Amino acid sequence: MQSSLIEKSKKYLWLPFTQMKDYDENPIIIESGNGIKVKDIEGKEYYDGYSALWLNVHGHRKKELDDAIKAQLDKIAHSTLLGMSNVPATELAEKLIEISPEKLTRVFYSDSGAEAMEIALKMAYQYWMNIGRTEKKKFIAMQNGYHGDTIGAVSIGSIDLYHQVYGPLMFESFKAPIPDVYHSKSGDPVQCREECLAILEKLLEEHHHEIAALTIESMVQGAGGMIVMPEGFLSGVRKLCTKYEVLMIVDEVATGFGRTGRMFACEYEEVQPDLMAVGKCITGGYLPIAATLATEDLYQAFYDDFDQRKTLFHGHSYTGNQLGCAVAVENLRLFEKENIVEEVAKKAEYLSSLFEELKTLPHVGDIRQLGFMCGIELVSSKETKEPFPFTERVGYRTTLKMREFGMLTRPLGDVLVFMPPHVSTRAELKAMVEIMKKAIIEVTDEVMKVGS
Ligand SMILES: *Cc1c(COP(=O)(O)O)cnc(C)c1O
Repeated sequence: MQSSLIEKSKKYLWLPFTQMKDYDENPIIIESGNGIKVKDIEGKEYYDGYSALWLNVHGHRKKELDDAIKAQLDKIAHSTLLGMSNVPATELAEKLIEISPEKLTRVFYSDSGAEAMEIALKMAYQYWMNIGRTEKKKFIAMQNGYHGDTIGAVSIGSIDLYHQVYGPLMFESFKAPIPDVYHSKSGDPVQCREECLAILEKLLEEHHHEIAALTIESMVQGAGGMIVMPEGFLSGVRKLCTKYEVLMIVDEVATGFGRTGRMFACEYEEVQPDLMAVGKCITGGYLPIAATLATEDLYQAFYDDFDQRKTLFHGHSYTGNQLGCAVAVENLRLFEKENIVEEVAKKAEYLSSLFEELKTLPHVGDIRQLGFMCGIELVSSKETKEPFPFTERVGYRTTLKMREFGMLTRPLGDVLVFMPPHVSTRAELKAMVEIMKKAIIEVTDEVMKVGS
């Protein structure tokens, strides 16, 4: 039965972000999960080292979350949010406004982080139309940013490997540099930050009259390689946006809901976004719900008689789905009950102490961490920071080796992603870091032997 399922998966599926030739060589089908482990159809168990792609909070098959969905099923699975509301969508909206930065007062639902960003773009664009500033039509995006895979989200994204091929399909946006300290010439966080802010200010000085909004990931660029921004950068960007009348769209899809040791990462710098996109951990990793949060000022620019044509014409069939919202409400209740955010912050310190040993390995160039959002960058030379050749696929091979040793994650190039579920215990963190260490040593040894 198992082998026939594997054959069928190879025959019928086309997987996201996957070279299917790689899948055919290394297929895997997950059957079940429990706590922070998942099990494949052959019965092999793995630590979920990337929270099922950055989503999972309480582990798999958390009883309270399972029960919340079952209870909602006994009422209704889905109606619509077009022109009407439903019970859990309303409750969740209240909760989201309560826990998010103070100036955000309105919740617009969607089904994925990419959509939440698309909606933020449309809101920002139409906001200026609605208030008669029709010249503000363009966007500033950050270099190396990632906001999802729909065309609008790709247009404000800037990771060449993913985005270049779609170039002609995108709308143009200005790109501003991000302070990537490890890869910068000086390696100095303050200098790096100031250089980037100065370039951004110059761009704003010249173009602010035509710019609707700036998009930025909050504190950490995730898919761009877990680049943690130096202190003072995000708040510096906020100040410039305010000064030049440009809306600030903060993407908390990856960083939101305790992932970084704060409920939202922008709390680190007390940044108040004009628009904020959330998704991923919002349902504890159970169902596809995302949301765009807006300030009252933004909302009011759309609120008028119908014939003024200021309505936001956007929506999806499953927007505000009851099962998803119900499990999200329960997820947030558990955040309070189990002190999830404070626990992540505390355990992150322990995790950081575990990384000290990894840092001594000859090919670990840099470890970047904010809470439970971590990237381990493998390099061919620590002194020169020279990467391994692209063709060696060191990151990919290391994650395959980790799979062998009983842990799942995906690399970003040669940056290993470590994003365990929030509830991972100290013992589990230790076991996972051990697996990473073993895999890194084996693969980098192998590569160096062949290379020499
Ligand atoms: C994952 C991610 C997205 C896209 O979310 P999807 O639900 O995959 O569409 C957007 N922004 C950031 C920062 C992300 O990490």
